[in-house]
Parts: sequence; C-alpha cells; structure tokens
Amino acid sequence: MGCGGIGWIMEEDSGPRKILEYSVNCPVCGSSMIVEEYLYDMPMVGKVIISTGKCPRCGYRWSDVRLAEPRGPRRIVYRVESPDDVNALVIRASTATIKIPELGVEIKPGPAAKGYITTVEGIIIDVLEKAEFLCSDEKASLEKCREKIELLKKARDGQVEYTVVLEDPEGVSAIISSKARIEKLEDEGGD
Ligand SMILES: [Zn+2]
Repeated sequence: MGCGGIGWIMEEDSGPRKILEYSVNCPVCGSSMIVEEYLYDMPMVGKVIISTGKCPRCGYRWSDVRLAEPRGPRRIVYRVESPDDVNALVIRASTATIKIPELGVEIKPGPAAKGYITTVEGIIIDVLEKAEFLCSDEKASLEKCREKIELLKKARDGQVEYTVVLEDPEGVSAIISSKARIEKLEDEGGD
C-alpha cells in the first residue's frame, strides 16, 4: 500500500473501489494492455473514475480521470485574477480541450491523450516546460521564446489575468471553484 503513481488520491476514508478491468491496444506499440478502473469519492468533487494501465511490452503508462456522472457537453470558463486563483483543482478528462486564449495555449485531445487531476498552476507549469523544450531548438526564435516564457511564468505566479477554458463534449471534466462558469457546449464559433 501507499505506492503507485496516483497514491496521493488514495485516501483511506474515500476507499477507492475497483469497478472494471479491460484490455486495450497500447497507443505506442500496439500490444495489448490491461486498464483498471477505480471509483473514488473525492471531497469537493464527488464521484470520480480513475483508470490506469501500463503496457507490458514498452512500458507506456496510460491514465485517465473523469466524473462518474456525465454532465452533458459543456464548456467551463474560469478567470484567473489573483495569485490564489491558480490553486483551483482541475479534473481534465482525456476528451477535454484546454484553451487559454490570452497565453496562446490550446491543448487538444489526441489518440494518446491522458486525463489527469491537476491545478491551474499545474497546467501552466506543464505548458511552460513544453515551451522551454521547444525553445531549446536552435531554430526557435530567441526573442519570441523569451517573451512567451516570461508570460507563462507570470501566469504561473498569478501575476497576469487570463481565462482557462475547458471544453468537454462528454461533460466529464470540471474546474472545482465557485468562480467557474458553466456554459453549454454547442457547435464551434458562436458569438
Ligand atoms: Zn506499448
């Protein structure tokens, strides 16, 4: 007990229950891998299903998280206006797209997309690491990179205001905050 990649969620009182096991093809090497699903009752969030699997051949780890009760296609709009706002918990299912227009960020779900529980800060740190990696390419424009990284660092520290938009056609993602605004997700565009 106590080890494993998602150990921090495994609180003794919420008692994760294994509800399902099935096999899928590894998105990296195509060999068969077992996925296990667990049901958790998370404080402030409610019932959440976590699924994890590891490919026995190439070692690829897959994980996803989603609300146990789908809320229908929806867009969650969350404004970061002060440093504390970056601490809001985000349940990002693998079906969700994350957009942060002010920072030029768009994370789309791909075939190997993972779902995870993080915070707004966690998302920004992730984007920051990717930007730093891309900027290490010698073909990258130094000035643009420096600008982008500066902006992301300010965003991480809550020093600039921005909007996190989580679009989930399955309605199984969430941002846990009373400030989060829920909109119906219809077709793209709108007004
Ligand atoms: Zn594999």
